[in-house]
Amino acid sequence: MHKGARRLAASAARAAAILALLPLSAGLAGEAPRTFGPEKLPEVTDADDPLVDAQPLVPGLVVRLTYATASNLARRALYPPDMKCLLRRSVAERLAQAQRALARSQRTLVAWDCFRPKEAQEALWKALPVPGAVADPQKGSLHERGVAIDVGLLALDGSPVPLPTHHDEFNARTHADAPLPDGPAKQNRDLLIRALHDAGFRVNPKEWWHFSRLWGYRWPVGRLPRP
Ligand SMILES: [Zn+2]
Repeated sequence: MHKGARRLAASAARAAAILALLPLSAGLAGEAPRTFGPEKLPEVTDADDPLVDAQPLVPGLVVRLTYATASNLARRALYPPDMKCLLRRSVAERLAQAQRALARSQRTLVAWDCFRPKEAQEALWKALPVPGAVADPQKGSLHERGVAIDVGLLALDGSPVPLPTHHDEFNARTHADAPLPDGPAKQNRDLLIRALHDAGFRVNPKEWWHFSRLWGYRWPVGRLPRP
């Protein structure tokens, strides 16, 4: 046998011996790794894209988390009052891009919901167990994965600007393409959607304020970082 071929055979035998010692994990059992979308994108891990405080990465971002107060559909605070707007780092970076574009139109983003811990998702589901309005906690929502954000607009000085509805309303006017009369509410909604689309987000067709990364189920359900 040729020397090179002998070396190859020896290393193949070694690899087979090592594989025989390993426990039968999903990959070795012949199950293909999970991929997403037509480009077959791989799953993302927490280490690839950690949950971070978005505020320092998005200059001027105003954070007013609806579920940190009792004015929400569960009628009680679901987050501690000092809860931060946590997002995957890649999501915060895209949000910063949208924020820069919006500043040119004298607007700033206000975050109403970012990463949502599992307990809060379960409380929301209990308050409104309607698939499509609230994600079933069994599946794990995009907010729980840190790849979805609920945002509105304010003027640069923080004063309110007309918008189609409040956060968390459920009616036909919350649809991203709801027909609105020409005016500032429609202009602001369309400006927001354009800026976030340009930064790589998709809007939820039923909620003009809810944006997420494409193929968001690639990301794992997140956990609140320990203080
Ligand atoms: Zn949302």
